[in-house]
Amino acid sequence: MNHSKQKEALRKLIDQQKIKHLSALEVFDLLRATNPKIAIATVYRNLNLFVKKGLLMKIETSGTEAYYDSTTSNHAHLVCTQCGKIEDIDFTMPDWLVAEVQNRNFKFKNLDLSIKGLCKDCLQEKGKNASKDSNNGISARKTAKPKPKRVL
Ligand SMILES: [Zn+2]
Ligand SMILES: [Zn+2]
Repeated sequence: MNHSKQKEALRKLIDQQKIKHLSALEVFDLLRATNPKIAIATVYRNLNLFVKKGLLMKIETSGTEAYYDSTTSNHAHLVCTQCGKIEDIDFTMPDWLVAEVQNRNFKFKNLDLSIKGLCKDCLQEKGKNASKDSNNGISARKTAKPKPKRVL
């Protein structure tokens, strides 16, 4: 299989909206189903190519792996720094930002906005751990900074 065919196979996945917050490895697995000889390096190269063309959105996380999204319009991402979950959130560039970009004679291509934090599940998990007096980071912090003992 030649290189342009491999590129076409990826393009097809993008057109079919199959790439929804997938890592390069996950895309590699998808492509391998129909192109058993495809190399991971080719996948990385083609992914970046489509990102440059504005057909794919690249989502950087706090982990080592970046994620790719074939939906490139009007949305931003909520990225959980704990479990790595990525959620879509509707986002349209506000008028003041569009004006600001235009004022700088900058040609807008696409938006790449990630809001990092903790998702609902991880927040709940954190709350559970805090109420339990377990030997995790939270109790370690307690030891470091002891609360004054309650006098009976
Ligand atoms: Zn999370
Ligand atoms: Zn998305």
